Amino acid sequence: MAETLYYRTASELSRELESKKITSEEIVRSVIERTKAVDGSVGAFISFDEDDALARAKASDERRSRGRELGPLDGIPIGIKDILAVEGQPLTCASRMLGKFVSPYDATAIRKLKENGAVIWGRLNMDEFAMGSSTENSSVKTTVNPWNTDCIPGGSSGGSAACVAAGEAPLSLGSDTGGSIRQPAALCGVVGMKPTYGLVSRYGLVAFASSLDQIGPFAHTVEDAALLLQAIAGHDDRDSTSFKTDIPDYRKEIEKKRGPWKLGIPKEYFGEGLDPEVRKAVQAAVEFYRSEGCEIVDVSLPHTEHAVGVYYIIATAEASSNLARYDGVRYTHRSPEAVDAIDLYFKSRAEGFGPEVKRRVILGTYVLSSGYYDAYYLKAQKVRTLIRGDFLKAFNEVDALLTPTTPSPAFRKGEKTDDPLQMYLSDTYTIGANLAGIPGISIPCGFSESGLPIGLQILGRPFHEGDLFAIANTFEQAHHYHAKHPELK
Ligand code: GLN
Repeated sequence: MAETLYYRTASELSRELESKKITSEEIVRSVIERTKAVDGSVGAFISFDEDDALARAKASDERRSRGRELGPLDGIPIGIKDILAVEGQPLTCASRMLGKFVSPYDATAIRKLKENGAVIWGRLNMDEFAMGSSTENSSVKTTVNPWNTDCIPGGSSGGSAACVAAGEAPLSLGSDTGGSIRQPAALCGVVGMKPTYGLVSRYGLVAFASSLDQIGPFAHTVEDAALLLQAIAGHDDRDSTSFKTDIPDYRKEIEKKRGPWKLGIPKEYFGEGLDPEVRKAVQAAVEFYRSEGCEIVDVSLPHTEHAVGVYYIIATAEASSNLARYDGVRYTHRSPEAVDAIDLYFKSRAEGFGPEVKRRVILGTYVLSSGYYDAYYLKAQKVRTLIRGDFLKAFNEVDALLTPTTPSPAFRKGEKTDDPLQMYLSDTYTIGANLAGIPGISIPCGFSESGLPIGLQILGRPFHEGDLFAIANTFEQAHHYHAKHPELK
């Protein structure tokens, strides 16, 4: 049986565990075998600890055999982006800077997963410090798109998306600062959700841009994404930006909320630069909702054209200050060549950071420097407020917005590596949600002619994740794209 388990959804596996048809050990063995069989070509994992995962699986089986009532994630393997702290495991952010660093503590999201009995499974590849859209900025290895290994999986959580798409874990966690969950989810044909800013504690998530970063789930289905979010959401004293709010039962919300909804189509998300195949698939999704009785209205988010510019000022400013801690003195790469303290900072940082991280630190330092602060950083903050205002105004009128997740399906490896601006533009449709702090989900909504997945993005009101899950689930139930898997040799 074990070999047939790796593409099951977490919800299915959970039901079978409950009825004692399978064991967690069988599930974990099947994902380990699958990972060993395909990860040589997919490259989703930076590292994994087979023995640790099997020990956790056996502990879960033992809990179950003692007749204890267990939560739905107990015994389910979950892949982890290599930016989240797991006690005793390497934490590299795919950077030479963190090299051999081993985390001394658990991130809050990880602690919660462990309390839920989940099996923490491996460290997933990413763009260095989560800066990028293709996972090509990893200093460790290349991850490819399981649907076409000549193409990128998206980024920065490329490993998290590819591992679910390739059956190497039924669930994974990623982080999203400007689209890093939703964009790779769209390009790899899986579900990915960025929660409202403040819903999930960032404690133990290595900081890139603290006012934008959120942790979120990858899964095959909307229900599975809801299950995983349920486990990690909630206030945490260790993150002063985490919100005190009641967390609803998301699976109940999916059942209870059936629409019809009023859905907005922001015209700025359907302009020039949108690939015709993506446009067609998203328009078909819009028509599906109309046929379900939803009211579809045109809306405008007039400051959208400034989103990418504002993001690359605010995100780089915050990164330049967050990354100042990597000085070669404490836990990071320490240059062996240095002759004095200043030389140690310079050399350690020059050797430890890759080119994109350096570009961001330089940009961010520039926009914060005296004389330029008002012209760039302060102005960007003001425009950010306008962008948030656009969304909140739209949500006075509609329940959610439907948009493409990405301007095009997955592009080819190397296609944009020499052109940072083109790379930055692949976040055009995802960045707004981070600037506004609102939740967004990407679900598969079709394929291009060459067989690459296309994603539909649904954006919602702050803390209305339940609405997004319900709206997304309606589409998923009628289309079943989630049941299609790439053919990997
Ligand atoms: N691609 C965007 C960037 O490079 C977003 C990254 C992210 O969400 N972590 O900054």
